[in-house]
Amino acid sequence: MTDIRELLLSRIRDVADYPEPGVMFKDITPLLADPAAFTALTDALAGIAERTGATKVVGLEARGFILAAPVAVRAGLGFIPVRKAGKLPGATLSQAYDLEYGSAEIEVHAEDLRGEDRVLVVDDVLATGGTAEASLQLIRRAGAEVAGLAVLMELGFLGGRARLEPALTGAPLEAL
Ligand code: AMP
Repeated sequence: MTDIRELLLSRIRDVADYPEPGVMFKDITPLLADPAAFTALTDALAGIAERTGATKVVGLEARGFILAAPVAVRAGLGFIPVRKAGKLPGATLSQAYDLEYGSAEIEVHAEDLRGEDRVLVVDDVLATGGTAEASLQLIRRAGAEVAGLAVLMELGFLGGRARLEPALTGAPLEAL
């Protein structure tokens, strides 16, 4: 098997000072445009869904949607969007979290998660972990169990993994 890590890394473009000075943006559009790389990524994430016994796959807006939807189809599981506040039409659960400047809020349709669900959360980049932490809190507040968190990339120097430890309560965090 070719080294999937090398393949995926070769299809991620670093864009300096985007969207603001000092940020190295990890652009995954070259990976999405390459069917071999996108398929390899989907297969790897679907493998994590299977290994963790997930029954649902949550994608975090917006790039998490692009990755999580094919994973859900491949693994034969339902896909659930966690969206920025105000975008979902039905009854929602919301979770606020702090950003470097100000705060943000994410939501999920309350009816999408049930007590018997084990949920794998998928996103492209784990940075500070704030978004992922809020999503794990939402899942638990909905009464469901966290099966794990799977990301394409972890920016280790930002300390997201340590921050997420309490919210993961023993569930795996896998970064490809
Ligand atoms: P955080 O909540 O700090 O972990 O930020 C994670 C969210 O912001 C993810 O949904 C990412 O898509 C996005 N993000 C944060 N930092 C970057 C980066 N350097 N490159 C691309 N996306 C990023």
